[in-house]
Amino acid sequence: MKAEMIAVGTELLLGQIVNTNAQYLSQQLALLGVDVYYQTVVGDNPQRLRDVIKTASERADIVLLTGGLGPTLDDITKDVVAELLGRSMLVHEPSMRKMEEMFKDRGLHMVDSNRRQANWIEGSDALANEAGLAVGNAVLHEGVAYLLLPGPPKEMKPMFQQEVVPWLEKYLFDERTSLYTRMLKFAGIGESSLEAQLLDLIESQSDPTIAPYAKEGEVLIRLATKSDSELEAGRKLDELESIIRGRLGQHIFATEDVSLEHVIVEQMTKLGLTLSAAESCTGGLFSELVTSIPGSSAMFHGGVVSYANTLKQQLLNVPVDLLEGENAPGAVSHETARAMAEGLLQLTGTDIAISITGVAGPGQSERKPAGLVFIGIARAGQETLTEELRLSGNRDMIRLRAVKIVLHRIWRLLQERK
Ligand code: ATP
Ligand code: MG
Repeated sequence: MKAEMIAVGTELLLGQIVNTNAQYLSQQLALLGVDVYYQTVVGDNPQRLRDVIKTASERADIVLLTGGLGPTLDDITKDVVAELLGRSMLVHEPSMRKMEEMFKDRGLHMVDSNRRQANWIEGSDALANEAGLAVGNAVLHEGVAYLLLPGPPKEMKPMFQQEVVPWLEKYLFDERTSLYTRMLKFAGIGESSLEAQLLDLIESQSDPTIAPYAKEGEVLIRLATKSDSELEAGRKLDELESIIRGRLGQHIFATEDVSLEHVIVEQMTKLGLTLSAAESCTGGLFSELVTSIPGSSAMFHGGVVSYANTLKQQLLNVPVDLLEGENAPGAVSHETARAMAEGLLQLTGTDIAISITGVAGPGQSERKPAGLVFIGIARAGQETLTEELRLSGNRDMIRLRAVKIVLHRIWRLLQERK
């Protein structure tokens, strides 16, 4: 199933507003297993709008338009689509009544242009607008679905969730078949290397489809298949999942939409293990993510944010000759990551103590580049693990990625215990 998106509005072309609708809709369609091949932005001009809709209809199964459903003269989307499909424009009575009542309630006079917002393309399905006045339209015409949504995101998003998703599921996935999906969540791997390792599958498979995307330092893929039975769908999804596990199993931490920190809290609680964290460049972000999970108090004891070297020495007993001096490895090093984790383990007595020290950027520190981060994991009676990471992205991304990688390493250690 191929979709194409058209954002209508001269303001977008002039750079006065950003096309966030395209981003939102692309993400949502990926979740439904629908591929987006093109996104277009076009001004409020009937001829050019007609041209891009025509082009889209020749290469997509679903054409999603946003913008231009409002009352003003430059709002032309419905008229252009109706004309192009050779259908008449009707009035959607429930929307008209809703609008009349709204104007009456507020003691306002309704001018004729407002009525345009209740326009409805003959033979289409009306998409209710919970947050505004303009009714959306969904039309199936010669095998192509046209979805007309309002421009303002606060109207478009609820309409998409409440009206478009069920519409797509009902009409586009054959009456007899349903869409079955499964989510696989990955950690400790970037989106591009995940995609590279699955590229042959992504390119060759049409059923089930594979849609990868990145979200908050984690990568997930959604597998989707159409089937007339749950059993058959389960078989197809199992088969594909096991191929993916064969290649990347050590990175898959969940098959539902839960965060990595959630999984860690749950598993450590179940195993009766406790955790503490010594953070430098992440400034408490690790502790923040873990404690955002309800019930984390059962396993997380706390930690130390030792940003300055003096605190690394005073609170964590990091030897001064690691931190200072001509030939010292410095705060951003394997040695300091190890000393921080081991110092914290002494201090807290938890089963696992982790450490993160690095350069979040922008710019270098200790003549080391932004993105260079060392992590440590100390456990009572066991060899302390340290690792050097080379992370990309801006300051926030580097910090978040470092935290997620530590969580992933803990997760892997927990799998070994099982
Ligand atoms: P209205 O009833 O407000 O006129 P409309 O459906 O006619 O809605 P537009 O007139 O095209 O939509 O845009 C109205 C506002 O919606 C814009 O000023 C902008 O704030 C927002 N908007 C429109 N298109 C987009 C888009 N693609 N991405 C993000 N915001 C958008
Ligand atoms: Mg408008």
